[in-house]
Amino acid sequence: MRQLIAAITADTFLGRASHPNQERADYAPRPLVDALSAAGLLSIILPYNEKADAKDYVSSFDGLVIPGGPNMSPKFYGEEPLWCIGATYEKRDKFEVELIKAAMAAEKPIFGICRGLQVINVALGGSLWQDMQVQCPSITIQHMQKTPVTLATHSIEIEPGSRLHSILGNSCRVNSFHKEGVKKLGEGLAVTARSADGCIEAFESKDNDLITAVQWHPENMAADRKDMAALFAHFAERMERYARRRIVRQ
Ligand code: MN
Repeated sequence: MRQLIAAITADTFLGRASHPNQERADYAPRPLVDALSAAGLLSIILPYNEKADAKDYVSSFDGLVIPGGPNMSPKFYGEEPLWCIGATYEKRDKFEVELIKAAMAAEKPIFGICRGLQVINVALGGSLWQDMQVQCPSITIQHMQKTPVTLATHSIEIEPGSRLHSILGNSCRVNSFHKEGVKKLGEGLAVTARSADGCIEAFESKDNDLITAVQWHPENMAADRKDMAALFAHFAERMERYARRRIVRQ
């Protein structure tokens, strides 16, 4: 079989550019591309396209990665932005929600990372805390860590029997760069990991192998940690399984 292609939805650079080509540049994090490559996958980057139908992109990839990025606009789960929410960018939100639905309809596996977990949750009818520290008194752990992203800072407990448990075991330590968190869980999802203060740190789809998502950034630890690299190998393995199934059907 040909090498499988993982599509990464692009973040748009909205900061001050040091070169004209960087202005509003669409990009993917290099550690993510490297982690997918180490798992044997090719990567393509998908910039949002306001005129495109997300369905038209689906034939160009075997699996979809929704990576980290800014906060999701609360309009997608029916709330107004609270004073404490971070920067939002609705164009990317809308494109990613449409892509997630199109990828699910085409049975292409999805891997959500940090913001990606949150967008998948909202695409499936769930909602988010806009700022857990402000809205949830029970959240006491530092989920927006001050320590570099390559280092783990808090522990997670993993649900026995989940696919995540078969990869990571009962518990492990993860990095953490999120203000937002899952409030209402989306339809068809099962929680697979929580931090000690109860924050949802991972989920997967209940009735199929299409969705896994984690609230931390495994791509930034995968160079040094085999367990984090194994998450990408697991994604590659799911992509291959669904790709073979499509070949059989043809
Ligand atoms: Mn966390």
